[in-house]
Amino acid sequence: MKKIGVLTSGGDAPGMNAAIRAVVRKAIYHEIEVFGIKNGFQGLMDGNINKMGIGSVGDIIQRGGTILYSARSEEFKTDAGQKKGIEQLKKHEIEGLIIIGGDGSFRGAQKLTEKGYPCIGVPGTIDNDIAGTDFTIGFDTALNTIIEAIDKIRDTATSHERTYVIEVMGRDAGDLALWSGLADGAESILIPEKKDDFNDVIDRLKRGHERGKKHSIIIVAEGVGSGFEYGQRIQDATELETRVTVLGYIQRGGSPTASDRVLASRLGAKAVDLLLGGKAGKMVGIQHNKLVDHDFMEILSEKHVINNEMYVLSKELSI
Ligand code: ATP
Repeated sequence: MKKIGVLTSGGDAPGMNAAIRAVVRKAIYHEIEVFGIKNGFQGLMDGNINKMGIGSVGDIIQRGGTILYSARSEEFKTDAGQKKGIEQLKKHEIEGLIIIGGDGSFRGAQKLTEKGYPCIGVPGTIDNDIAGTDFTIGFDTALNTIIEAIDKIRDTATSHERTYVIEVMGRDAGDLALWSGLADGAESILIPEKKDDFNDVIDRLKRGHERGKKHSIIIVAEGVGSGFEYGQRIQDATELETRVTVLGYIQRGGSPTASDRVLASRLGAKAVDLLLGGKAGKMVGIQHNKLVDHDFMEILSEKHVINNEMYVLSKELSI
């Protein structure tokens, strides 16, 4: 293999730039040419492809977002779209592709692999919702952004007697809510994996109020429903004044944490190693602090699971 490509796809995540840098530098280290594809699979079909040198990834390790931009493309889900992408890769003599993104992006990568085009995936999403890796690139940064925001809301919470509902991202996964709830001592956490816990939240709020608790923080994962709806339901059920904050897109941006930069560097470099080693159709990941790889088919058919021990602990510590 003499030429490889790299693209970012799906939602952006802090640390994607560090992963791009690792891919480019590791490939050049092995005397392989690297091509950056802008705007994800859309840019691939459009032929938005440019050679990247060592300097092209200078001064980006600390930046959020992705210098290659990201996009979602319906056309790429079709057979014709994928063939169009492969034609562009062939035109540029690119022999292998690294895709940094979430599970949707890996479905696209799997389709290319099935059509005989070798692809390796790097998990980049703040949601931490991918099987086969303990952490995805961007999760730690988003988590720290959430913690900072909750700390600020807590200042107001200690000054006013109210219930505070905070909606966090995570798509269908509860990891951002669970980890931020545990890290910030929230009274309750509502996550998609434990949908039936609403009555328990109400019971805990009532018990806390009866013993003189002045304020409570409830974290709602977006995957379980709207923070505003839950806020209303909580207020109706407890008759406690309730305020709702939806943190929104601030969770996706910002300079990546040291943890995300290191993870992105390790995973990006490992992806190059796999491609050069003749592997295809695999996602790199980290499990028990060891770099691993799994077939796309395997990780796409499995569901990421939350750490139940942490969920139980969050309840025990917020009695
Ligand atoms: P995030 O978790 O941040 O949303 P993602 O990678 O899951 O990231 P998606 O929008 O689901 O984001 O997927 C990104 C792109 O991957 C899609 O816009 C589409 O072009 C491509 N893609 C998704 N599913 C498929 C599929 N089944 N076949 C081919 N391509 C796909």
